[in-house]
Amino acid sequence: VSALDNLLRHLDGVKRTGDGRYIARCPAHDDRHPSLSLREADDGKVLAICRAGCAVDQIVNAIGLDLTALFPPRQGTPGEGAPRQKQPFSATDLLLIAGYEAHVAGVVLADVGAGKAIPEADRLRAREAASRLIHIAEVAHGRR
Ligand SMILES: [Zn+2]
Repeated sequence: VSALDNLLRHLDGVKRTGDGRYIARCPAHDDRHPSLSLREADDGKVLAICRAGCAVDQIVNAIGLDLTALFPPRQGTPGEGAPRQKQPFSATDLLLIAGYEAHVAGVVLADVGAGKAIPEADRLRAREAASRLIHIAEVAHGRR
């Protein structure tokens, strides 16, 4: 069972809109017309986007799942499992670290966007956050 099929089983008002694409009623808000779009990426990960702006963790939590539900099951076809075991972090770890670093980067970027001067300490911390986020993106794409 793919991650997408598993998610669809927990959702109401599911409609297929194309190859590997579905819409459903968002479980995280009072959704009368389906506003949650779901798509399976080539690597088996699920991209879930609510048009009302619900965060993806709210969506999976609302149906009693967590963020790992968006990732393909680890016991996949033979040969698929091997590269994944090289990953130093679990999917959950990566999301937690990425979320934290994204928060740090977002705070500094908000100041940049507002035209404020950035203190040296914040600038260095933002550089560290940027390097971690890039590393996480590479791990998530299976490049390391
Ligand atoms: Zn929603």
